[in-house]
Amino acid sequence: MDKVNNYLENLLPESEEWATALEKQAISGKVPIMERQSIHFLKQLAQIRQPKHLLEIGTAIGYSALQLHNACPQAQIITIERDKDRYHESIRNIKDQSKEDQIQVIFGDALEVLEDPGIKAKTFDFIFIDAAKGQYKRFFELIDPLISKDGIIVTDNVLFKGYVVNEEGINDRHVKLVKKIRNYNEWLSNHSGYITTFIPIGDGIAISLKK
Ligand code: SAM
Repeated sequence: MDKVNNYLENLLPESEEWATALEKQAISGKVPIMERQSIHFLKQLAQIRQPKHLLEIGTAIGYSALQLHNACPQAQIITIERDKDRYHESIRNIKDQSKEDQIQVIFGDALEVLEDPGIKAKTFDFIFIDAAKGQYKRFFELIDPLISKDGIIVTDNVLFKGYVVNEEGINDRHVKLVKKIRNYNEWLSNHSGYITTFIPIGDGIAISLKK
């Protein structure tokens, strides 16, 4: 698989200058952001769907939010981040690109923010989950009422470094997490309200289409 991944990685177009700068910023700050293949795929999906209202759980430094904005400039994006330093970093990065009118970053734990009446009153046609992996099921339950019919929910890291399929070499603190992701994937694939496809790209992506 590494060879296939390297091959596919080499086929990707070069990142734009601002994106390369954020990729470097993420590496130097040890901030996990989406892998290049995954972000390329996510952007293309957004480009095809052209959502108007997009929600992201897990902003980090604003990389994927800015990339999504790039793919669908007409979309209003709301993104949630609970880490204070990352929240401030994302605000800076979004301001640097003059995108603060299109991308709103909310500081807080998504599990609380998603219970806020202001958020509950909204509808989204594209939701991207990329936050604490152990809470994916809860995130999904909270956003289920917010997604429009035919809307799409994308979840990243559903294969978690391949450990979901093969636990060889896994460290102890990840065993529970892997179990949770596996449960989430099974729950998702059996969810009667959605059709889900799992894509083995990057860290594994699930695309759930609301019926
Ligand atoms: N989507 C980002 C990107 O690709 O540029 C990367 C997000 S990073 C993988 C996950 C982020 O989710 C972290 O910055 C973490 O602090 C945040 N996070 C984790 N659990 C969260 C929660 N319950 N509410 C809000 N943010 C959360």
